[in-house]
Amino acid sequence: MSTDGVVIVGTGVAGATAALALRTGGFGGDVTLIGREPHLPYRRPTLSKDVLLTGMAVEKALIKPQTHWDEAGIGLRTGVAVTGGDTASHTLELSDGAGLEYGSLVLATGGAARHLPGLEPGPRVKYLRDFADAAGLRDELERAGSVVVLGAGLIGSEVASASAKLGAKVTVIEPAPLPLVRVVPPSIGERLAALQRGAGVDLLLGVRPGEITVEPDHVAVGLPAGAAVVADLLVVAVGTTPDTGLAERLAVRVDDGILVDERYRASADDVYAIGDCARVPNPLEGGTYRAENWSAAQDQARRWRRCSSARCPPPRCRGAGRTSSVRCSSSRVGPRRTTRWRWTAR
Ligand SMILES: Cc1cc2nc3c(=O)[nH]c(=O)nc-3n(C[C@H](O)[C@H](O)[C@H](O)COP(=O)(O)OP(=O)(O)OC[C@H]3O[C@@H](n4cnc5c(N)ncnc54)[C@H](O)[C@@H]3O)c2cc1C
Repeated sequence: MSTDGVVIVGTGVAGATAALALRTGGFGGDVTLIGREPHLPYRRPTLSKDVLLTGMAVEKALIKPQTHWDEAGIGLRTGVAVTGGDTASHTLELSDGAGLEYGSLVLATGGAARHLPGLEPGPRVKYLRDFADAAGLRDELERAGSVVVLGAGLIGSEVASASAKLGAKVTVIEPAPLPLVRVVPPSIGERLAALQRGAGVDLLLGVRPGEITVEPDHVAVGLPAGAAVVADLLVVAVGTTPDTGLAERLAVRVDDGILVDERYRASADDVYAIGDCARVPNPLEGGTYRAENWSAAQDQARRWRRCSSARCPPPRCRGAGRTSSVRCSSSRVGPRRTTRWRWTAR
């Protein structure tokens, strides 16, 4: 490809939106969108909703059909990971052995479900991040008579609701006093707790899980005072970590997310990061934050496009009370926030 081409790594909503925004914004150079998942870009929020509840096929959740990518002239490569590269020579290595040059590189590598040490996914232990996870979990839920969910955040709560609707006996263990404690006010958390309990979910709030034992035919999660919950299936929903593996291999600066400035520029020339993987400056409160939601990923992708085409309003730095075109916050790490998602019916 020509060296003015744009390579976008990650076929989630951030990467997909960035590729589409390049074309709608009139960019005529090569655009390559690479993702290690085997599917066309799809709507991840459906995983804990329709996919779990109805077994919806990934084809029903696509952001755009194949014809749309073809007509837009976007080179979409699925089932291929970018494994490394060299930002000085603007080259990338792919898992299929191929190499690729770029003019600009956009890292939209998203996030991963936070794993508990020693608790690897398997027939009795599930995490939920991608379509394969959701399809596997759905299959197990159809068989499981009982499920224990660790975490009453958004994903844990949605998994609990879906499991109860599918007929399983559900126990949720959450150390915080209410569900969704980091994203909604207590009054809404209380309402959700009441709804879940009304649906038959055994919601153990303010409880820290103890020792977890995984046996071939069941899992057991220790509770205070020597009690335990025994279930057919354990779903671990204890948060998300940014996927910074490729950025680290490219020696791009990372600190709980890929550090970028107001124009999404990372620490290497012509490298950008957007979406769940990016740690961006907070123009209102200072410091930096990571967004973990669908709308923010879309917004960042569109804004990145505007910035890269020089139609970007100059960034504002906290406290400066004036505009600045310098990388005013990329080196400032704290205070750090994570903005989690709102419920999205898609
Ligand atoms: C089950 C679930 C339900 C959710 N529900 C909601 C909701 O209701 N509302 C809401 O606002 N948000 C929701 N979210 C969050 C929302 O989906 C994410 O914030 C959003 O998808 C982030 O998009 P992204 O493109 O940044 O990253 P991702 O969607 O994570 O996409 C990143 C992609 O990059 C790929 N990748 C990573 N590294 C490489 C590499 N080296 N080479 C090639 N490919 C690579 C990954 O495999 C992945 O496909 C939900 C998330 C989950 C998991």
